[in-house]
Order: sequence, then structure tokens, then C-alpha cells
Amino acid sequence: MKKVMTDKRTELKELGEFKLIELLTKDFPRQHPSSVVGVGDDAAVIDAGDHYCLASTDLLVEGIHFDLTYAPLQHLGYKAVVAGISDIVAMSGVPEQIMVSATLSNRFSVEALQVFYEGIRRACAHYSVDLVGGDTAPARQGLVISVTALGRVEKSRLCRRGGMKPNDVLCVTGDLGGAYVGLQVLNREKEVLSADKEMQPDLDSYEYVLQRQLKPEARADMVHALAEMAVVPTAMIDISDGLASELFHLAQAAGLGVRVYEEKLPVDVRTDEAALDLKLNSTVCALHGGEDYELLFAISPQDVDKIARHAEVSMIGYATEADQGLQLHLQGGQAVPLTAPGWEEGGP
Ligand code: ADP
Ligand code: MG
Repeated sequence: MKKVMTDKRTELKELGEFKLIELLTKDFPRQHPSSVVGVGDDAAVIDAGDHYCLASTDLLVEGIHFDLTYAPLQHLGYKAVVAGISDIVAMSGVPEQIMVSATLSNRFSVEALQVFYEGIRRACAHYSVDLVGGDTAPARQGLVISVTALGRVEKSRLCRRGGMKPNDVLCVTGDLGGAYVGLQVLNREKEVLSADKEMQPDLDSYEYVLQRQLKPEARADMVHALAEMAVVPTAMIDISDGLASELFHLAQAAGLGVRVYEEKLPVDVRTDEAALDLKLNSTVCALHGGEDYELLFAISPQDVDKIARHAEVSMIGYATEADQGLQLHLQGGQAVPLTAPGWEEGGP
């Protein structure tokens, strides 16, 4: 047997999340030809004969991914399903089933858990997915939620991360940065509340960014729109960790560079205004804020005319040769290297 334990101790932060996953999973040779895509994409791809099955698992940990002081349980249930569905959609798949697991402490009443499941139920109804199982275990404290999403895709429509070619045009759905700005609004209100219990939070003027944070939607509509436009992106990924981080993934998977234009980044005016109030730079929020659950994809230049008519898609730049690296062209015309903090030197 191979000796894997040694006296050496390496701290997790020395590796970062992605290098850690690579290290832990590298010695698993494929044993079934049906395992088409394993670790390293938004979802695993399994050959089911006439189509591919897609499977993805996400963990949400209290105190890390959500804070129950301001995330209502119903919204949390909804968002947990959205996160799973987004990974299926990012492979150009149609979500069909979910499995939900949770660790529960006696802090929660039956009624509270019913509210949580009401959120899950609404998401299942909205995305036409069936809840087909899960697991429940007691815990001393803290809520941990795991959602496994399953889906299917026609073989010819599968979109992986790695197929981008030089000059392919980079596209983003919807708008970016709102979820992060919404989170900062909530954090600010939490501080105000803890300083003065009598204060009423002023949240009305931030409705859009709060909804982006608390009740995001997955872009299941784009899977249908792309099929209708007869476009198969050469690469696709969901923007859950921030645009910059996902651009790094696409570039790395294809062995290419990217050039992105600040003025093309889609930021809603309501996100801009809220960012200004909070003294945040909305370009930075669009590039590095997470949880927008939009899609980043690349299309070949010949498909540009087909996509250009779609109101929900912004073209933000294009793929370059690897030696160009990852560049951001600022509004003034200056080009700067695009950085994804936490990606190269450690996880988010
Ligand atoms: P996402 O952000 O889309 O949820 P992650 O960054 O969590 O994806 O995971 C990246 C890839 O690594 C995925 O293919 C995922 O299935 C795989 N992965 C993550 N954690 C583990 C693990 N502990 N063991 C095996 N594979 C993992
Ligand atoms: Mg993902």
C-alpha cells in the first residue's frame, strides 16, 4: 500500500482550494468509460446512452456561505437549490432532480425547517425539478446544507470549460456585482443593528441588490435560448466565485489568455448606485464579488450575429493566445493584468 501519511504538516492555506482538490483527487484512475468528465468542471458528466447525465454537489455552511441573522430560511432553501441548478445549466444541461442533505441542531424548530423546505419547494416548482432524496443528521451546532443536482444534456450540446479557441468571443448573461453589493448592505445593517437595537434597517432603497444576494435565479432560460439560437458555446462556466476567477478557469482549461473590457462589463444601474453609497468600486464588485449565478461562455466569432440580438447577453471581450495573459482594458484605454485574488495563491 502506498504510504500517504507523513509527519510533514502542510497548512491548507498554502495550497488553496483548487490545488488541494487536484492533489487529493489525482490518483483516481477512471474505471468506467461512462465517466466522461470527472473532477474539474461544473458538473460530472456520465454517459447514459443516448444522452449525458450531469451531477453536481454543493455545500453551504452556516457562518461561511450564509448568515441566518439576515438570510431568511425560505430564501436560503431557494438559493441552495439555485446553486446546484446553476452548475447543471453551466454544462448546457436541463436540471431534473435534486437531493438535499442537512445537519440539524436543536436550535431549529420543526416550523423553522418547514419554512426552509418551503424555499426548496418553490425552487423545485420554478425550475421543474423533483426532490428525490437526501440525508438528515444531527449536529451540535451550525447548519450545513448539501444539494446534489442532477440533469441531462443532449450529447451534441454539452458545454465544458476547456473548449475555448483564440478569438472566441466572451459573453456574460445578466448583470454582475449585485449579489456582492447586496451582501455588503446586509453586513452594514447588521453592524448598525448590533450597535443600536432600536434602529430600523433602511433596506428599501437597496431592493435590487438585496434580491440579487438573497434570492438569485439560475440561468436555466439561457440553455433554451442557446438551443433556439442554434449556438453551442465552445466553453461555459457559472459565475459563482466572481467573473475574474471564472475567466481564470476558462483560460487555464483552454491554455489561452483573455482580453476583457471594463466598459463592457454588465453592471445594473441599481448596483452602481448602491456601490457608490457603500464606497465600493462597482467594476471590482463585478470582477471579484461572487454569487451572481450568471453564466460566462465563449462563442466562436461566426456565432456573434446570432447572440448579438439577445438582450440578456453582453459581449465583454475575447480569447487570446496564452502569451497575452489575462488583461483588463480600463475605461481610459489602459490595459492592466487581470488578477483573481485568492485564486493563484490560495482559495477564496
Ligand atoms: P463549483 O464552484 O462549481 O461548485 P468547486 O470549485 O467546488 O465547483 O469544485 C471544482 C471541481 O472539483 C468540481 O468538479 C467538483 O466536483 C470537484 N471537487 C470539489 N471538492 C471535491 C472533493 N472533496 N472531492 C472530489 N472532488 C471535488
Ligand atoms: Mg460552478
